Amino acid sequence: MTDESLAALGGTPIRTRSWPKWPRATDSTHRAVAEVLDSGRWAVSGPYTGQVCAERQFAAAFARFHNVPYCTPTTSGTGALTIALQAVGVRRGDEVLVPGLTWVACASAVANLGAVPILVDVDPATLAMSPAAAAAAITSRTVAILLVHPFCSIADIDAFSALAELHRLALIEDCAQSHGARWRDRPVGTYGQAGCFSMQQSKLLTAGEGGAVICRDPGLYDRLEQLRADGRRFVDEAVPGRLELTEVGAVQGRNLCLSELQAAVLLDALSRLVEENQHRAARVAELAKLLVGVPGVSMLDADPRVTERTYYNLVLRLDKGEFAGATVDAIARALSAELGTMVNPVYTPLNRHTLYRPTALSGDDLADLVIARLDPARFALPVAEAARQTCLTLTQPLFLDDETGMRDIAEALEKVRRHGDDLLKLDQDATALAF
Ligand SMILES: *Cc1c(COP(=O)(O)O)cnc(C)c1O
Repeated sequence: MTDESLAALGGTPIRTRSWPKWPRATDSTHRAVAEVLDSGRWAVSGPYTGQVCAERQFAAAFARFHNVPYCTPTTSGTGALTIALQAVGVRRGDEVLVPGLTWVACASAVANLGAVPILVDVDPATLAMSPAAAAAAITSRTVAILLVHPFCSIADIDAFSALAELHRLALIEDCAQSHGARWRDRPVGTYGQAGCFSMQQSKLLTAGEGGAVICRDPGLYDRLEQLRADGRRFVDEAVPGRLELTEVGAVQGRNLCLSELQAAVLLDALSRLVEENQHRAARVAELAKLLVGVPGVSMLDADPRVTERTYYNLVLRLDKGEFAGATVDAIARALSAELGTMVNPVYTPLNRHTLYRPTALSGDDLADLVIARLDPARFALPVAEAARQTCLTLTQPLFLDDETGMRDIAEALEKVRRHGDDLLKLDQDATALAF
């Protein structure tokens, strides 16, 4: 083997240095966590200490960041979706439009409430839900649209707002991949009745696990607060030594409360979000220039209404003719080995995803009917499927590197492209190393 061989076949990788670490903790993160550890209060459900708890500080800061009055933090993005769906009134048997190309939690959160996810195909330009496909999927049972802003795209919020209004549907934005992105100069998450976020480890803002829902409507906020705290909400006047949550019970809640430790981590991380988003955007702009010299690789264009673009995953679309017709999986494995990081295809469409098993949930008298409605295989998702066969994603921490990282990425793509025949070998040998 010469050094020129693909790293996946034993050659020397393009990238030997490590990539920027993610998640990141600075001195201020350590201080913030230590303060909570010593504070005597680790949960919103603990007694008031005379200090505004970290969870309320984060909620206020995150609401202010979006210029909305309310934010309810949650244990996860899934928790955020769950209470948002409940708070806008989604009930058993209701249909909710969900994009067919996203993380499984978007659909499973709906199914776990007894509602029926209707998988909708995506727009080839953005890989976000297609407004035309969504319009065609609306029935008399449809009550809500779960609009995801995926990868590095924002869905066509204008079209979906109009569609939701026309059919009197709730619009919930899932911004788990787009913290800080802006559509027509306004943050995503502020257009729908509720904006949901995940702060899981891979996301742009993270405490390892975590989530939040933002909204403007006080009635909605009141339900969100109770839904995530076993039916409790904050008292108007907190008294030191007494619980800060009061029992209301206007809804059937559950415990989806973020801990004080996580809230402190998020509050600290939020102070770096804008700068990190700018850093990533600058790197992506450099990479875009370098990719002009690599045949068969392109990025998704941003809609001109996207005034602040964020990059959770950068999507690269491949012209596979330039890669000897190899599968995107083989190309992803070859790139992973060259770069020493996980390069993956986009999600497997939800109509055939291993982790999406909604029919396993049913089991009542209506089983046959329910199973028929939930069955993911009944939905056709040709655009999502085509994306799965042609698109790769690069993860966000790569774009916290300096410019040399972008040169490594471009070089790795070019090297892999030149080794089309070896890619075909990789396709046949499923045991070849990824990295
Ligand atoms: C990560 C993610 C979720 C789920 O968030 P968790 O915090 O993992 O529960 C939901 N929707 C999208 C689009 C995501 O990327």
